[in-house]
Amino acid sequence: MLVAISIRLRELAALALIIALVALCFALPPFYADEPETEPVSAQAEGGRPLLIIDAGHGGEDGGAVTASGVPESGINLAIAEKLSALCGLFGVERIMTRESQELDYPDTAVTTAQRKSADQKARVELINAQENAVLVSIHQNFYPDARPFGCQVLYGKVEGSRELGELAHGMLTEALCPSSRRVAAPISEDIYLMRAAKCRAVLVECGFLSNEAEAALLQTEGYQLKISALLLSAWLQYADTPDEGVL
Ligand SMILES: [Zn+2]
Repeated sequence: MLVAISIRLRELAALALIIALVALCFALPPFYADEPETEPVSAQAEGGRPLLIIDAGHGGEDGGAVTASGVPESGINLAIAEKLSALCGLFGVERIMTRESQELDYPDTAVTTAQRKSADQKARVELINAQENAVLVSIHQNFYPDARPFGCQVLYGKVEGSRELGELAHGMLTEALCPSSRRVAAPISEDIYLMRAAKCRAVLVECGFLSNEAEAALLQTEGYQLKISALLLSAWLQYADTPDEGVL
């Protein structure tokens, strides 16, 4: 029991340290602002660590799910993705983002919203599949017609190694953010094009329910977004440093 408590305290202390460091970084001039996050990077990070691809779900004309007050998940997804990327910078984790803005460039041939969404998804898949030894982490928010469900859930793709990261991230997020949730990490539906078409290991993180008023409010706060990002980074570091999982 004492051992368990001390481990828990160590985890909390580590998380607090990460959050303090990030808070400091956000308070200081953004020294990482010039870092070319979207420049082509070496396909394989030092020491064989896989490349982390951070995908902020939706964007542009596709807002995704919306809160009761009309806030789309696309902006929340991007805010969490940006924080995760900033944390990666602090820890020397090589990563790219599939988008860094709420605005998206669409080809002239895409006229309708459906065509534009399709073109965007195809462009993301092209970017993702051009990377070697990569792992995709796609960030989303959940929605349900009933306002009661809450909590996070991580869904994983079918490529070998996806389930391990999915279960790890799901366990860490659930323990820290929604310990009463009974959801488990689960295989993702084949209906999600991006996850179906990505050839690399992939997980989709549903951070919480925008249909739950209390959780939707939390998900819009910087502090909660930072917690999610720090937990995802912790899961990533643990996963990527495990030889059997992190190195192909
Ligand atoms: Zn979504």
